[in-house]
Amino acid sequence: MSDLLGRLRSRGWRMTAQRRAVAEVLDGEHVHLTADEVLARAAVRLPEISRATVYNTLGELVALGEVNEVATTGRAMRYDPNAHRPHQHLACTGCGILRDVHPAGDPLAALPEGERFGYRVREAEITYWGLCPDCART
Ligand SMILES: [Zn+2]
Ligand SMILES: [Zn+2]
Repeated sequence: MSDLLGRLRSRGWRMTAQRRAVAEVLDGEHVHLTADEVLARAAVRLPEISRATVYNTLGELVALGEVNEVATTGRAMRYDPNAHRPHQHLACTGCGILRDVHPAGDPLAALPEGERFGYRVREAEITYWGLCPDCART
């Protein structure tokens, strides 16, 4: 469980009804929503919520380090509340859905010294592409 709400509460994040609606939509496992999806889902809980508030709140959560932005090629930025446990992504080329995965071994260590070209490598971001079971079925 990402427990975004619990983390925000323990940080003393000011929880207005609108901000809470955004945080509730993002809370959970394998959540990677675009800003428009967050807006649509938050509006189900709170019809008066504005696009500006959703976008501002997302920006604030990213700045706090409680939500990660995930970019996948050619698709809208997604917001990921699993910000404290390092993970990689499994992405569907059909529908774009992402899952959090934990490859065996350290992806950083997998890059040999001779392939580092003098870079001080800090992190690795890996996306495994393929068809999800739903898309593979059709
Ligand atoms: Zn799919
Ligand atoms: Zn993720």
